[in-house]
Amino acid sequence: MQEVSRRTVMGMAGVSAAMLGAGFPDFAEAASGKEGYTLPALPYSLNDLEPHLDPLTLKLHHDKHHAGYVKGLNNTLAALEKARQQGSHEHVRKLLRALSFHGSGHVLHTIYFSSLSPDPEKPKGALARAIKDQYDGVETLESELLAAARTVAGSGWAALVYEPLGKKLLVLQIEKHENQVFMGTIPILAVDVWEHAYYLKYQNRRGKYLEAVKKLLDWKEAGKRFDKARGYTP
Ligand code: MN
Repeated sequence: MQEVSRRTVMGMAGVSAAMLGAGFPDFAEAASGKEGYTLPALPYSLNDLEPHLDPLTLKLHHDKHHAGYVKGLNNTLAALEKARQQGSHEHVRKLLRALSFHGSGHVLHTIYFSSLSPDPEKPKGALARAIKDQYDGVETLESELLAAARTVAGSGWAALVYEPLGKKLLVLQIEKHENQVFMGTIPILAVDVWEHAYYLKYQNRRGKYLEAVKKLLDWKEAGKRFDKARGYTP
């Protein structure tokens, strides 16, 4: 799909460029290619997050669920392109709903998998300073983030985002993949609390899963995202 038509689609949907990856070279590159969006590889091997997250959960989550959102996003964009060529706008509501759902699902899963590591690091540099200013420190922020994750009603996420107008960090609680999103914000770190993220190992014990996530939570990529996000002004 051409760059121009992709922009048109995003404009029609009211999907913010930030949510679909402005400022994230990997996404932008994938999005502008003829092949559409591609599934990023996991940044570690399947056994690396043991004993906190098991390899089967990780494999299904990445190879089936995340892959499904990438496929859904590409299929939706293709369907929108076809509808545009045919001058048919009958299915717009359904297609734009799917675009937002799958697109946000792809972005959030990409961030989630890179928010975990077998060798987690705490925030450094500008991100560490911003967290100190706003939250007193990373422990307080992690507690707030995980409380937001624990209390999601149904399937959803907790995310740390950068809000560029006020130049501040915010913790958001997201239902499904995109409900309660604050438009224009850029996700920095994300915690998945859909049951597929933990049910095989933890069953209904979301709190136990989140204790495990806390041990794996890695701020390396978050720091890079924050540094890029600070250059963005709506
Ligand atoms: Mn998931």
